Amino acid sequence: SSIANRFVLISLFPYTIMLNLILFGPPGSGKGTQAERLEEAYNLVHISTGVLFRSEMDEGTELGIKANEYMSRGELVPDEVTIGMLKNKMLSHADAEGFIFDGFPRTAPQAEALDQLLKEMGQQIDALIMLDVPEDEIVKRIVLRGKDSNRPDDSDPEIVRKRFQVYQNKTAPIYDYYNEKGIAFKINGTGSIDDIFQNLCDTIDSLHV
Ligand code: AMP
Repeated sequence: SSIANRFVLISLFPYTIMLNLILFGPPGSGKGTQAERLEEAYNLVHISTGVLFRSEMDEGTELGIKANEYMSRGELVPDEVTIGMLKNKMLSHADAEGFIFDGFPRTAPQAEALDQLLKEMGQQIDALIMLDVPEDEIVKRIVLRGKDSNRPDDSDPEIVRKRFQVYQNKTAPIYDYYNEKGIAFKINGTGSIDDIFQNLCDTIDSLHV
């Protein structure tokens, strides 16, 4: 009869099994790389606000031109602009089985807006997972990435330093916001891409979603 009950529940709420994750960590911690793998493994829609801003820039849109003023200095794009763009992106994937957020939220108002938006969709964040990487390793990785990614904000050490400062001051506290809800996790972000991915999967599979 428990199987019968489960069948009734699944037929009444066929869309309730969703997975919404935040991949968290400083610039250069490997969020983008791992998010792409998770997107495929868990059939999630990967949303990177950094990628969205860069594609707006490439297309020369008004939003892209505005965002570039901040990105080129290593500063955060204003919340209003960022939240509006994220909201549009999510609404364009109304049929998603879940989202993986990469590079968002980066401020307290962004975290609150995300919670509110998901709530309106009858959903929630299930976990924030932080990729823990020591600062000296991060600097090495970004300088390396700057050599072949045409990202001006990776190539200039002054801008990289500024992005760190911004991360420490405005973004790092977001971990505590989700930790208070009991859904923040930290994993070792050093080692091979495969090992880190395995650790991420283990964490996700242990969630009671
Ligand atoms: P990323 O690709 O995540 O390193 O982002 C590159 C740059 O885009 C950042 O340094 C910011 O200027 C901007 N950016 C990306 N995501 C956000 C966000 N959630 N809030 C504000 N600015 C952002």
